[in-house]
Amino acid sequence: MCEVEEDYNGLECKQEKIPVPTLNRKCMKCKEGTAVLIIRVSDAFCRSCFKEYFIHKFRAMLGKNRVIFPQEKVLLAVSGGAASCSMLSQVIEGLSRDAPKKLRFMPGIIYIDDGGACGRSQEERQRSIDQLKSIFTQTGFPYFIVPLEQVFALPTSVLVPVTSDPDLSNPSYKHAVDQYIREEQKLTEEDPASAVTRLSVEDSAYSPEHKLALESLFSSLKTLTAKEDMLHTLRQHLILHVARENSFSKVMMGENCSRLAVKLLSNIALGRGAALASDTGFSDPRFGDVVIVRPMRDYSSKEIAAYCRMFHVPSVFIPGLDTKAQDKASIQRLTETFVTNLQAEFPSTVSTIYRTSEKLHTVKPSESQAAEPASKCLLCVCALDTDVDKASAFHATLVSEQLSQIKLQDVSHDALRCVETQCCGTGGCSSNRFPAHQDLKTLLCYSCRLTIKDMESVDTLPAYIMTEAERRRKRSLMKMEISEYLLEDGD
Ligand SMILES: [Zn+2]
Ligand SMILES: [Zn+2]
Repeated sequence: MCEVEEDYNGLECKQEKIPVPTLNRKCMKCKEGTAVLIIRVSDAFCRSCFKEYFIHKFRAMLGKNRVIFPQEKVLLAVSGGAASCSMLSQVIEGLSRDAPKKLRFMPGIIYIDDGGACGRSQEERQRSIDQLKSIFTQTGFPYFIVPLEQVFALPTSVLVPVTSDPDLSNPSYKHAVDQYIREEQKLTEEDPASAVTRLSVEDSAYSPEHKLALESLFSSLKTLTAKEDMLHTLRQHLILHVARENSFSKVMMGENCSRLAVKLLSNIALGRGAALASDTGFSDPRFGDVVIVRPMRDYSSKEIAAYCRMFHVPSVFIPGLDTKAQDKASIQRLTETFVTNLQAEFPSTVSTIYRTSEKLHTVKPSESQAAEPASKCLLCVCALDTDVDKASAFHATLVSEQLSQIKLQDVSHDALRCVETQCCGTGGCSSNRFPAHQDLKTLLCYSCRLTIKDMESVDTLPAYIMTEAERRRKRSLMKMEISEYLLEDGD
């Protein structure tokens, strides 16, 4: 009999006799302890085996991918939720181990307080921050609590993609470990914790002007879909900035597999298909010098919830943009409802979607292309997917958009007339916002264009985005002017 069929039959057998969880079931691993939890159909674990399984999974994920080097500074992005808080607990566990199995990187924590974009009051935000502070202080790691309002103080350098020297950024993993062990032998008397705690703690203050600016930015976005997308982008920029300022070269995100399955599907719906591999993969190298890693991607949200409850991992519930929103309020929200409902009926839904994400790869841009900022999206810093054939869906969309633009221009003419006749005296009746939209669009990937399209006015965007847009536009203008003197790529 062929193997496939055998497997299939084996599966059927299991399906037929799904054991009903009873109080006195034994652990499938040690066969001794009483099972307290059933992870998959037939996997019942006792308390201590579950703990071991959970810890092993984290270390296996890091071990398999080998991207975090000894003594590297790693920033843990903690949102207060169960997934990122259990990631924090795994790092604490790993660092406190005995020498051979010890994690050897230097962690820091970052929390982005997005309450200003979600309409939370100052008191509510402060309460959440106080709760998080007490969790962070206990870890002994340096931490940063950064209000989202800080995006209005970001420098343009955040958006400039850095191509790190491949030799420096990617030395052999084994070599790095060996060197670390040699160095550690020399410095055994020095307290390793002292190096970690030297960093200062950033204060969570923001100015009233920035608070207003953030409010008008988010009220300018017309749909919840666009708001969520913008919030995600701005949060990424802030994390990246703090990481660079404090020389963290990795950022750990707590996205679990349930979360990533939703992200994968909603990103397809949002037109981000071209960036799927870096948006959902284990490591995301789009920023060059700072690499994003997702070590929690093998855990389901059910496992995480069980672990947090059993081993008292503290977490803080912080309402987000869509907390009280209805199921159909945004594409992201709708996808989440869809996946969760499907998972309830067909328990392998999430893992099937998630396994797909593992198989995705992007075509690596050539060296010269990667170094050119114009070839990356201004907002999400992914490779631009808008340079495609004329016979593509994207071009068809552009053509129909240009057609409708002609009508809009007619409207602008009316607006001009309104200025001439001074009917409203405001000087423009919103007519002057179209050119700004158009300028910005050419610098964005398809999906970010859709988000900007849902904005009433791009003037509300933080200065660092607009300044960098202006710089890139000037640069491409200049390039066009001198283009006849330049050699073609193929020559
Ligand atoms: Zn057991
Ligand atoms: Zn983009």
